[in-house]
Amino acid sequence: MKKSWAEPYKIKMVEPLYMTNYDERKKFIEDAGYNTFLLKSKDVYIDLLTDSGTSAMSDRQWAGLMLGDEAYAGSENFFHLEETIQKYYGYKYVVPTHQGRGAEHLISQILIKDGDYVPGNMYFTTTRLHQELAGGTFVDVITPEAHDAESEFKFKGNFDLEKLEQLIIEKGANRIPYISMATTVNMAGGQPISLGNLKALRALTNKYGIKIIHDMTRVAENAYRIQQYEEGFEHKSVAEIVFEICSLTDGATMSSKKDALVSIGGFLALNDYEDFEEARNLVVVYEGLHTYGGMAGRDMEALAIGITESVQDNHIRARVGQVEYLGEKLLNAGIPIVKPIGTHGIFIDAKKFLPHIAQDKFPAQTLAAELYLDSGVRAMERGIVSAGRNKETGDHNYPELELVRLTIPRRVYTQAHMDVVAESVISVFNRRTEIKGMEMTYEPTYLRFFQAKFKKL
Ligand SMILES: *Cc1c(COP(=O)(O)O)cnc(C)c1O
Repeated sequence: MKKSWAEPYKIKMVEPLYMTNYDERKKFIEDAGYNTFLLKSKDVYIDLLTDSGTSAMSDRQWAGLMLGDEAYAGSENFFHLEETIQKYYGYKYVVPTHQGRGAEHLISQILIKDGDYVPGNMYFTTTRLHQELAGGTFVDVITPEAHDAESEFKFKGNFDLEKLEQLIIEKGANRIPYISMATTVNMAGGQPISLGNLKALRALTNKYGIKIIHDMTRVAENAYRIQQYEEGFEHKSVAEIVFEICSLTDGATMSSKKDALVSIGGFLALNDYEDFEEARNLVVVYEGLHTYGGMAGRDMEALAIGITESVQDNHIRARVGQVEYLGEKLLNAGIPIVKPIGTHGIFIDAKKFLPHIAQDKFPAQTLAAELYLDSGVRAMERGIVSAGRNKETGDHNYPELELVRLTIPRRVYTQAHMDVVAESVISVFNRRTEIKGMEMTYEPTYLRFFQAKFKKL
């Protein structure tokens, strides 16, 4: 018998939501240039824009805020955080940063030289940009199934190790400072890497003396998939699997706004003392002193407690269970979504949902806007707008996956909210043939998806 995923907590405090009517939403989304990033949060009913910084903290974490030691240097909370990272993730050295991209900036500047190549299991927006700004070129060496929304392969976050080895031979190991390895792969739809593949990656990189830097943003969710699906791990705890994943890598960047259940914060963790020395020096320039790196003492305390909560089996089972509940509802209604269901959200296949809209007329952007218009549910585009332009030709990058992400914040919404979301997606699906594409009217230079504006055709 399948046990329910019911939440291992009860609600102590509530935050009211505001409802809008159709005419209001029509004006709001027009004013936002049909970009859901430019909507005001008060005009949103159920906010599935992102799972980043949107989790609900526990009573322990809120209590932890009161223990903030706001000393400029050597805060108690830093040492608690450092100890927690060493205990659950096993990395030796810790440099706090204001969020994940702060850590990406540091590691890219330290390890990448002009003309280097950085292979990874699919790109992430900020990660790749920092690699490029440091003079590197990102190379996608994820398993081909990851680019196929229909494939039900359980470990779409795996590396294509043959492709990677060819790249190493072609470019030379000395031009590859590290492998960028993410648990789970956000842009592929929240898909996990298996421990078997990671072990093989470690063996291959050892052969060539190449480091693995771990984007551990959603490591606990990845560990849960390993526990569910990989042979030999069904009796291991999520915490044990998390520790094992980290032990196979040389360092990590963390956006603690995701898995780790806080609203802001991140860190760079390293095992190599020399790299750490450099990071500790560089962080002072960009983030703050190495014992706070852009975080308040209280925030480091909430993060230390959040990390401990994030690796508990009960927590992860309920978190992913809720995402699967929504995903299964949509699948049952015939909505084209990326399979298997991701751990942090549902990714709607906009190419299949709106097959009459060409990719350069922004089907995913259009669908996210239509969903808001229908019900006030806010989603995010993960397709051609997010993929940006080719550095050389200046043309759009045309990613195979053109997705709308319904990202579920942790511990925030109820099952009834998930029902509302499903009803709204189905209602837009039922009138999909009437929906037209858009053109871009404003395009920023960097990470254009955040601020671009559109108009309806
Ligand atoms: C969010 C995210 C980042 C960047 O972290 P920020 O805290 O937003 O700067 C990096 N990698 C992945 C996979 C992410 O989801």
